[in-house]
Amino acid sequence: MSYVDEVLARVKQQNPDQPEFNQAVYEVLESLRVVIEKNEDAYRKNALLERLTTPERIVMFRVPWVDDKGQVQVNNGYRVQFNSAIGPYKGGLRFHPSVNLSVIKFLGFEQVFKNSLTGLPIGGGKGGSDFDPKGKSDREIMAFCQSFMTELCKHIGADTDVPAGDIGVGGREIGYLFGQYKRIRNLYEGVLTGKGLSYGGSLARTQATGYGLLYFTDEMLRCNGKSLKGMTVAVSGAGNVATYAIEKAWQLGAKPVTCSDSTGWIYDPEGIDVATLIQVKEVMRARLTEYAKMRPNSVYHPGKGVWSVKCDVAFPCATQNELLLEDAKMLVANGCIAVAEGANMPTSLDATEYLQENGILFCPGKAANAGGVATSALEMSQNSERLSWTFEEVDAKLKTIMVNIFHNMDEAAKEYGMEGNYVAGANIAGFLKVADAMNAQGIV
Ligand code: NDP
Repeated sequence: MSYVDEVLARVKQQNPDQPEFNQAVYEVLESLRVVIEKNEDAYRKNALLERLTTPERIVMFRVPWVDDKGQVQVNNGYRVQFNSAIGPYKGGLRFHPSVNLSVIKFLGFEQVFKNSLTGLPIGGGKGGSDFDPKGKSDREIMAFCQSFMTELCKHIGADTDVPAGDIGVGGREIGYLFGQYKRIRNLYEGVLTGKGLSYGGSLARTQATGYGLLYFTDEMLRCNGKSLKGMTVAVSGAGNVATYAIEKAWQLGAKPVTCSDSTGWIYDPEGIDVATLIQVKEVMRARLTEYAKMRPNSVYHPGKGVWSVKCDVAFPCATQNELLLEDAKMLVANGCIAVAEGANMPTSLDATEYLQENGILFCPGKAANAGGVATSALEMSQNSERLSWTFEEVDAKLKTIMVNIFHNMDEAAKEYGMEGNYVAGANIAGFLKVADAMNAQGIV
């Protein structure tokens, strides 16, 4: 049996109840096969893949908090510190009822390669809770965040592990988490990113993932003799990533016509209006039905279906496994030429294969959405320097990083004889740096 197959079997056997984690490991190791097989004995002797697929540390904890009725609630908290070979653990916190150990482990594993691809010195981690912020009062959100941080603060630090936001964790939550960390540890340090501008945040961090996704896609299209200008694009999600992907799509001359949330989706023939979207989702914290009321020419559809709209480029920006095989078939049939993942692992394995087999330019999230964590690392640099850079400075650095990620990924794919296979290119480029650092640091 090949070493890759041995490790895949081991991961499956040790984590039988973790489908998302198994899916992520399968996707990465399959595309590393060509690299591993060139040097199989050395990798096996050092158990490099076993170490790579086993988190350095997992912290799981109880999060008790009191709701507005005086009832005590209890949620599960997680922090998976996956790999620190190239820098302190870095990765977001997700608050969503679907959070469990499998989801956090898949996200942490992906984060290792994504962070490596940015070229910045950051290791991989991820955390979160099955807490659902929807419908909670501000006081309840604060009570939860304070309780969550009361335990988490024992395990993180500016040079150890620096969490950020993710689904359900935006500026408000980061503020409450930071306040509690500072209060307990008596340290004013860059322990979280995505902070508000008045207390150490970076300009352009809010926009970074969505903007970076579009810079990346624009470069990929340019290198394939195409341009976003004049293209119709479909976006899913209506949160941080989707909103700023839509904004940058407009700025680059494309027309974004869709967005979605967990209850339904919008088709706006005039193009999604960013100000209305922000008003509905960030200010009113309401459903997209409100968007349709404010933009009478748009249509709200309950449930799923965003990928049935004819588009040139699709940007899944909501959550994992939201673009399935039947969606991929609709996109291909409707003439879509590219799919770039804003979310983490939004495309299922069979849908990815179908898109690639049908000549679609497919950009995996670990490369295409790396602008968020890259700008988080820029926030860490500014915190260390105790300086703030201008929006233009950060945005220019972000653009350079995204263009470099594209070329690193593209060249790695070419070097291993898989030109145009960006999934393989991203995994290989991300892996080589981490593997080199792990080998250099001995058996740890
Ligand atoms: P937000 O919470 O801001 O937005 C998430 C959006 O996706 C919301 O519109 C939400 O709907 C929708 N959504 C969430 N879960 C589901 C579900 N199970 N089914 C359908 N829709 C769903 O999160 P972000 O925009 O920050 O994150 C989106 C994705 O991007 C995630 O995969 C995240 O890991 C990834 N990502 C985020 C980065 C960042 O910097 N924020 C960086 C890199 C990746 P509703 O409004 O109803 O809740």
